[in-house]
Amino acid sequence: MDIQVLGVGEAADPSFANSSLIVAAGGFRLMIDCGHSVPPVLWREVPDPDAIDALYFTHHHPDHCFGLIPTLIRWTDDRRSKPLDIVTTIGGWKQLALLFQAGATDPERSLSFPLRWIETPEDGTLGPFRLRTALTRHSMPNRAIRLEAGGVAFAHSGDGRATPDSEDLFRGADLLFHECLTVEPDPLQPFHAAFSQLSDFPERLGVRAMRLYHVRMGERDRLAAACAAGTRTSLAEPGERIVLQAQAPAA
Ligand SMILES: [Zn+2]
Repeated sequence: MDIQVLGVGEAADPSFANSSLIVAAGGFRLMIDCGHSVPPVLWREVPDPDAIDALYFTHHHPDHCFGLIPTLIRWTDDRRSKPLDIVTTIGGWKQLALLFQAGATDPERSLSFPLRWIETPEDGTLGPFRLRTALTRHSMPNRAIRLEAGGVAFAHSGDGRATPDSEDLFRGADLLFHECLTVEPDPLQPFHAAFSQLSDFPERLGVRAMRLYHVRMGERDRLAAACAAGTRTSLAEPGERIVLQAQAPAA
């Protein structure tokens, strides 16, 4: 499994594109979230209009989905032909339909390729992946995702504080990407995670490595210093590529 990080920024971040990444296995590429500042990064880093097989939306705040229409327009201009699977909730489809309407884009007629709508499963499959999801605590429903293929597991929280269900989803992951706005919880941000709530995840949930993203501007240095106290947690970096390989069974 191969992870390519496109963006690591918070919702309205002057320095970093919105949090987004691509997970690839067996030639299948799943992109997670496509916020308003993601498309130019995607076009530069992944210029092939047929490269992405599926898009998964954790939830539908602007920093996680407002890049959809521009992305589809670029791919149409570049003559994409491959169908695109869009995996989201029923509520998410309705919100994306409004987005198409606002952009005067008819998904049936304006694009050079078909869209296929897939409802987010609790436990299902997509391409080579077993795909499981769980709700976090966020200001709108947000489904964290876990992908398993080739004997490795990758998990991504989307947005929001962990719940017992999302912690179960993350358990034993080889790599966990978790939203982390601040070092300590901000009482004004009850729907965002903080480092002090997550720092024991590698130990407590058996997560091999954890990357933090969606960090508040101005908080990265403090958060990097907090991460440096351990060995398994670090800040996600834009452009980073991570290859996950199955661990050899213990002798
Ligand atoms: Zn959000």
